[in-house]
Amino acid sequence: MSESESEPESAGQITVVLPDGSELEVDAGATVEDCAYEIGPGLGRDTVAGKLDGDLVAKEEPAYDDAALEIITEGSDESLRVMRHSAAHCLAQAVERLYDEPKLAIGPPTDDGFYYDFDDLDVDESDLAEIESEMEAIVDADYEIEREEVSVEEAEERLADQPYKLELLSELAEEGEQVTFYSQGEWEDLCAGPHVESTGEIGAVKLLEIAGAYWRGDEENPMQTRIYGTAFEDESDLEAYLQRLEEAEERDHRKIGNEMNLFSIQDVTGPGLPLYHPPGKTILRELESFVEDLNEDAGYDYVETPHVFKTDLWHRSGHYENYEDDMFIFDVGDDEFGLKPMNCPGHAAIFQDQSWSYRDMPIRYAENGKVYRKEQRGELSGLSRVWAFTIDDGHLFVEPEGIEHEVETVIDMITDVLETFDLEYEMALATRPEKSVGSDEIWEKAQSQLRSVLEHRNLEYDVEEGDGAFYGPKIDFAFEDAIGRHWDGPTVQLDFNMPERFDLSYVGEDNEEHRPVMIHRALYGSYERFFMMLIEHYEGNFPLWLAPEQVRVLPISDSNLGYAHRVANEFDEFRVEVDDRDSTLERKIRAAHDDRVPYQIIVGDNEEEDGNISVRDRFEDQEYDVDIDAFRAHLEGERDEKRTEPDFLRD
Ligand SMILES: [Zn+2]
Ligand SMILES: [Zn+2]
Repeated sequence: MSESESEPESAGQITVVLPDGSELEVDAGATVEDCAYEIGPGLGRDTVAGKLDGDLVAKEEPAYDDAALEIITEGSDESLRVMRHSAAHCLAQAVERLYDEPKLAIGPPTDDGFYYDFDDLDVDESDLAEIESEMEAIVDADYEIEREEVSVEEAEERLADQPYKLELLSELAEEGEQVTFYSQGEWEDLCAGPHVESTGEIGAVKLLEIAGAYWRGDEENPMQTRIYGTAFEDESDLEAYLQRLEEAEERDHRKIGNEMNLFSIQDVTGPGLPLYHPPGKTILRELESFVEDLNEDAGYDYVETPHVFKTDLWHRSGHYENYEDDMFIFDVGDDEFGLKPMNCPGHAAIFQDQSWSYRDMPIRYAENGKVYRKEQRGELSGLSRVWAFTIDDGHLFVEPEGIEHEVETVIDMITDVLETFDLEYEMALATRPEKSVGSDEIWEKAQSQLRSVLEHRNLEYDVEEGDGAFYGPKIDFAFEDAIGRHWDGPTVQLDFNMPERFDLSYVGEDNEEHRPVMIHRALYGSYERFFMMLIEHYEGNFPLWLAPEQVRVLPISDSNLGYAHRVANEFDEFRVEVDDRDSTLERKIRAAHDDRVPYQIIVGDNEEEDGNISVRDRFEDQEYDVDIDAFRAHLEGERDEKRTEPDFLRD
């Protein structure tokens, strides 16, 4: 008997696409796990979860025809996520055991751990140890984690005293549909999963902190209690993470910013609106002049645009339709205005105000442009998430043939910046997504020029197929700081859309009107985020050219004050101060160290007699009998070199 006779036609077969591009044919209805077993029994046994078209799903989830399928096995980043999601369930179970009827909200895994949000729960940090040991008991009990499909009606009954879950349920599914619950021991949760097989598979857990969080991130909603934790495969991974965390806390830009008097964000002036104090602004001015020099060398012209525009501009640029909720909009008389969330439309308007010939192209505009974006208040944090920030923005208006040359220059500028700050970087080319504007011809021309720049410069890069913006391809940079953390870096973004919207044109050699391509680029991105990253990267020990106070002269006693000031005058091309407080040398050294002043010059009777100085650095190395002119020459070199390596006492 042939198979075709034994199986009804309708059972059918489906095809899934594996990560290497090969296709796998399986029975319709086959789950992710079934597919894994089909590939190989070993893989089947190791399967923790799957990804269908990029979405993380339980291994019990049926695959569907034409789906891109990835099998998640133990030890991968995704499997850590699955385990942390299970740890979040243990947290909620422990809290329900220990406290009277808390209301459960959401409890997802995050990039480094997990959290769970509760309402009607009165706990503080001192309760975390008890909750954590209850979680450990749940892990030790090794409850099987079971997945169950139930009807919406059944789910409503089970969640009768959980208002937040009911709200989620009502959005998740309609009457007659099925939803999934995951249970462990006496506890269960409405949840799409996936999860590990049993609570015993959760490795080492640690609760970290408690914070307030608005239900669904909306400040109109009640404030809930969020408990953060993390979980790792074993104790040693957890320990290593906690150590990194401690290191990151030591470097926290809010702490160092306060210690060094760099900036403040105050209730009275508003959330997410940083105020830069003189030492902080000194650093910003150095950063500004560094990119200004690069821009001027590369032929940029500086322009300036106001902070506010009529919303007519935002309608024309498309920001109003797509971005309205993130904009600060207000009426003045009969007109509506908005704070600018981006600088590009202003620059496009400047370009559009003149007529251009191919001989003028490309046009390059630069501006340190302040922009305003209305992030959720609950999301605001230090300088990393703010309402007002400044972009070292630049926009190029380029002939389509000229993309390669311009992008090459921009990439050189960006790598120059990243290397100056000792940041390791990676690059990625994001190509045309499914939905896009612009002709095939322009996309092809642009993408091949971007590739050719990267290849010509011999740069390694990833290709992120289909990850470009709808209006053009881009090159993204990501970099790594001193403690191995990864950051999104600068971007070079091509744009075929805004030139259309603003009807930008230039007259070509053929005497016809042509549409330029617009390139958006920033070397730092936002000053706020870059500054924050630098504070943490250097732990406040800025290289000499950035240090707000570069040299401090410490007289050993009051009788050396006159000499101290004369020495300070010898260094007046630097940011130099004399510590003339009535205090011991030891205290003065400590203060200079705390203020992270790169160099201290110590002068006492010996130095005054010999007409020289002693030099001490912030890392507590000291050298005596130093010649003033020689040290000044060294400082000039170190400052102008900009890089962090040259250090007088470490040559
Ligand atoms: Zn869950
Ligand atoms: Zn732009």
